[in-house]
Amino acid sequence: MNALVRSLAAMSGLRDREALDAALVRLVISSGEGMVHSACLIRVVGEGDDRRCLVLARVDAASAPLSRDLLWTDWTILPHVHDFPLRQQAVESGHAVHAATSPRTTVVPLVTPQGIWGLLEIGTDQALSAQALELVDGILLTYNNLRGLLDYGEKDALTELLNRKSFDGAFFRATAEQHDDSLPEGGDRRHLHSEAGVWLAVLDIDHFKHVNDTFGHLIGDEVLLLLARLMRSCFRFHDQLYRFGGEEFVVLMRCDSVDHAEAALERLRERVQAYAFPQVGTITVSIGFSILLPHDTPSDAFGRADKAVYHAKEHGRNQVCSYQALVASGDLKDQVAEGMDVDLF
Ligand code: GH3
Ligand code: MG
Ligand code: MG
Repeated sequence: MNALVRSLAAMSGLRDREALDAALVRLVISSGEGMVHSACLIRVVGEGDDRRCLVLARVDAASAPLSRDLLWTDWTILPHVHDFPLRQQAVESGHAVHAATSPRTTVVPLVTPQGIWGLLEIGTDQALSAQALELVDGILLTYNNLRGLLDYGEKDALTELLNRKSFDGAFFRATAEQHDDSLPEGGDRRHLHSEAGVWLAVLDIDHFKHVNDTFGHLIGDEVLLLLARLMRSCFRFHDQLYRFGGEEFVVLMRCDSVDHAEAALERLRERVQAYAFPQVGTITVSIGFSILLPHDTPSDAFGRADKAVYHAKEHGRNQVCSYQALVASGDLKDQVAEGMDVDLF
């Protein structure tokens, strides 16, 4: 079988986003038959003049190791798109652009109906031929279709937030990166605070049954959709937002301190309370959150945040409760300590 067809077939069998991104850059290098010396897949995050580049996968030679930015890379250390004239041109024009001088760089925008989400930057010694560009287009088309399939499997159809099925994988990736010792010297590490961590928050709408009973399920669904939009506007690009089912949502977020985590959740609670939902008027939400602990399992971490939500529901709703603060104040018994009781007696 032709090597390119074999590689495309192998790529179509991947079900993991990171592996798919890695396969794309390797495939672009190998399809260039020695002409292409680097390939870099970039996600464009942010808007307008504050658009920045997050590297999803980069290879600088056919046999070189792959590199990428960490999932929780601090927004402020990502380079701006406008620092790279070719990338900026590609984003503005929506078309592939080429450097005029050697070494050549070609930047191809990656487009969905919602706009440009990323860029593929290809480094060559000579200008890419029309035939080579056509090949890259074909590879990108296949990659985009596969990405679309992954989105379809990982996203909730109503809100387009991530679904519960994709939570465990993201959870383990987040905890692995949190304890990763291989951060580049002088890179991300400068921005890591000693209190930094990953927090898991569970959000449940207050008295949502009443919304459905009074206005019907369709209006109830619209509330869920609008709430998801409010959530997107409150968190940063790398925070992961899930609909766990029904009217229960989960946020996995990296913050510099517990105060920052609580402030972000409190901001969301306030925005929901202030928002006028069509027909329904106002609604409120109860939120519980917990820091992720070393060796946590998804269900343990979820269980702690859920206990804090339960506490919020029992104590007036429309509030943000920290599991660790409730344990410290004696309002909740620690789940870990409870587990020890069971082991000991
Ligand atoms: P609480 O403040 O204690 O949370 O009260 P609640 O009425 O919100 O109670 P609960 O969290 O148990 O609410 C579950 C309700 O959510 C039941 C059902 O009417 C509604 N619901 C669950 N899934 C969906 C959905 O997909 N669409 C709509 N419209 N409603 C849903
Ligand atoms: Mg509920
Ligand atoms: Mg509820």
